[in-house]
Amino acid sequence: MIYDLALENGTVCNGEELFPANVYIRDEVIELITGRKMKFQARQSLDCSGLYLLPGFIDPHVHFDLFLGKYTSRDDFDSGSALALSGGVTTVIDFLDPVRTLEKLKEAVQRRMRSSRTSRVDYAFHVTLAGNPEFTPRAIADAAINLGMPSIKVFTTYSGSGRRTNDGTLLELLALSRSKGLVVLAHAENDEIILARERELRRDREPTHRDLPHLRPVITELSEVVKLIQLSKSVDGQLYVVHVSSGDTVEAVSLMNTEWKNNSVLETCPQYLMLNDEALDDESGFLNTYCPPARSERERRLLVRGLLEGNIGSIGTDHCPFTTQDKRESFSSIPFGTGSLGLSFPVLNTLFDGDLVKVASLLSINPARLLGLYPERGTIVPGRTADIAVVNRERSYNYSRSPLTRSDHSLFEGMSLRGEVVATVMRGRLAFHENRVLLEAGSGRFIERKRVLWGDRSAAE
Ligand SMILES: [Zn+2]
Repeated sequence: MIYDLALENGTVCNGEELFPANVYIRDEVIELITGRKMKFQARQSLDCSGLYLLPGFIDPHVHFDLFLGKYTSRDDFDSGSALALSGGVTTVIDFLDPVRTLEKLKEAVQRRMRSSRTSRVDYAFHVTLAGNPEFTPRAIADAAINLGMPSIKVFTTYSGSGRRTNDGTLLELLALSRSKGLVVLAHAENDEIILARERELRRDREPTHRDLPHLRPVITELSEVVKLIQLSKSVDGQLYVVHVSSGDTVEAVSLMNTEWKNNSVLETCPQYLMLNDEALDDESGFLNTYCPPARSERERRLLVRGLLEGNIGSIGTDHCPFTTQDKRESFSSIPFGTGSLGLSFPVLNTLFDGDLVKVASLLSINPARLLGLYPERGTIVPGRTADIAVVNRERSYNYSRSPLTRSDHSLFEGMSLRGEVVATVMRGRLAFHENRVLLEAGSGRFIERKRVLWGDRSAAE
């Protein structure tokens, strides 16, 4: 038998252990894993000596082609998915536009399906609620499951633009989540505190980007996350808190008890792990604007500690980049968001000092398990989808912006990182190698996800 692709002489990390092996792929699937000495014929082979094979990374939180009132995030499915491949990411999960009615949900699906046609990686979507829906929680839960999108995003803030969902609806959704097999994703910030702070400041002057940490202080996140986790626990729900930004939040959660992990998972992003609020004061501080905002250095360090201690269950990038020109706006029009897609691997490899089992858990297995992609994805086992990131865990370098993004800057420019993606295999095809993206636009497919049932250990370990 001749295989399509062979990855030879490398070390496989399946998320639980590391072992030397050759991996043989045929028809989009991992067919065979052998010891290094046993070799088979393949049409194409890659010598992975000195390199590691990890399950293709899953970025569960990206915003391609997102229209934000005045501006649209600069990476669409074409450029964004190329950038993904360069970072070993083989699956992304984006979001449907926020909706309040089932009619609008249909339109939102059509819109995203159209815009994702150019994707080079496989993709899935989270359903997003706008405020308090005009349908019952049960109806939206069923609709989401039928769409193959068993995860629903809600906001606890942004009442100004009608996106805030009240606690009553949220609790109902959480109460349904386990029996229906879906996950409730929450953007958690306390709306009232943010509104009060802004009202107060506006008595004196127009806010600027420098006021962001004051307008959205840590307590807005901490108080909301703690509450949501208690809500989820009270109904045995499945809660996934997106983009947790502050170490104090993680610490407060970790002090609750160990059982919180049965019903809740915290996600954080490369920007919160690597950047702090000092850059807001620079001349180019307006570029450092995302929500929740950058936190103090103390908070950042505490967040890293929370990650190392196992209290973060998933890493998403919240990739939503704009250009310098877009960002040069008055405070009320700044498009919030930044670009970090592709950075999850080097950032985690740096922070975990090359511990690839931890890295693979956070970037592949956990998101796969938590969001309904497992066991087809998220691991390296015969019979599973051949999504693989081939990495060098030793190489250190100073990061410079990828030419693949359509943004013109990166907040990570010049940062010292360790770990590099050398090649990416997407559904059995060599998709990125020697700094070149080898898959054409449109190679990706929509993934219909299954119902999700979290096990006892949820996955935050
Ligand atoms: Zn987001």
